Amino acid sequence: MSPICTAIAASLSTLMLHPAPTSITASLQQAETERADLGGGLYMLTGNGGNILFSTGDDGTFVVDSQFANVAEQNLELIKEVSDGPIVFVLNTHFHGDHTGGNKAFYSEGATIIAHENVRSRLANTPEARAIDTDTFPVITFSENTTFYWNSDEFRVMHAADAHTDGDAFLYLPKSNVIHTGDLMFAGRYPYVDLGSGGSVGGAISALEAIHDLADKDTRIVPGHGPLSSRDDVAATITMLQATRALVRAEMMKGLSRDEVIAADPLAEYNGTWSWRFIDGDRMTGTQFDDLMATDAEAKAAVDAGPAKEAKAVPASATKVTASSDAMINDDDPQTATTRLEAAQDETEQAVNKARSRAAEVIEDLTKIESDSEDADDPQQ
Ligand SMILES: [Zn+2]
Repeated sequence: MSPICTAIAASLSTLMLHPAPTSITASLQQAETERADLGGGLYMLTGNGGNILFSTGDDGTFVVDSQFANVAEQNLELIKEVSDGPIVFVLNTHFHGDHTGGNKAFYSEGATIIAHENVRSRLANTPEARAIDTDTFPVITFSENTTFYWNSDEFRVMHAADAHTDGDAFLYLPKSNVIHTGDLMFAGRYPYVDLGSGGSVGGAISALEAIHDLADKDTRIVPGHGPLSSRDDVAATITMLQATRALVRAEMMKGLSRDEVIAADPLAEYNGTWSWRFIDGDRMTGTQFDDLMATDAEAKAAVDAGPAKEAKAVPASATKVTASSDAMINDDDPQTATTRLEAAQDETEQAVNKARSRAAEVIEDLTKIESDSEDADDPQQ
């Protein structure tokens, strides 16, 4: 469940179980929903929960996402103001409550609910979602892609595997040149990647790349949250996700723990632009860390090894041995050379195998030199 849903759904579940204090109800309805006309019978609703895209026309109304239950009546009014046709379909881009909470109201209007098959299974198995009327679960599900030929356009619905969740879908309307990303994109903000519900940073990046490839410079992008966006905004999100991933990974390669990586504040230069109330720099760092621990064996190994081993493994130790050995080989005093080698050996014992084996080679060389020196001394005596 998204942080938005978690915070508000917690309040909503309280509302369902107990009479709601007026103040809570008021705070849940504080945002004003705005309807934007995208032309060609398409509209966007923003302000409460995930952005809604709806299409009006001769075939009836097609709605993408249903926001929260407590704003559903208001949203129905905003839709009916511009269309008197029936609401035929509601497609959920994923299972989070700020995108599915209004399903019941739309279902009551006669709409058929559609979503990826994992949306239905998650709605059926998530404690918060179980409180929702099962009649409002998706009754048509798909596993990959599906297309609706509707209101003189195509609604190409594509599944994005393991991205924001494991049941994401985004829509491309080629004639209208509009894309609804679901929560694959939070415009200008760090995205929420729900690792606990099958999401992954790599999957989120792949999905955004697919969306970027579909778009051209004129495509209107309806993000899951935030204002209408462009292909360039998608590109900026991809770049940010890749860069922040690399920054967190660099800290992990030092052998730092999760808390230590967060304390190092590796995303400082990005936080001013991308951080927001629910996903600040620390949370984004934690998400990148957790995702890398699950998907990047090298980064995980470095973290598991810890900073101690990492510090002792620095090449400087090996370099020192090499430098000493060079001096020893040219040293006139084998005894001094032996002492220095032993010191180097002590240090090398705690270093990586490479340094250790190099020291062993040096010992072998030195023994040979000592032997040669003794042989040479004999004639002088
Ligand atoms: Zn979400």
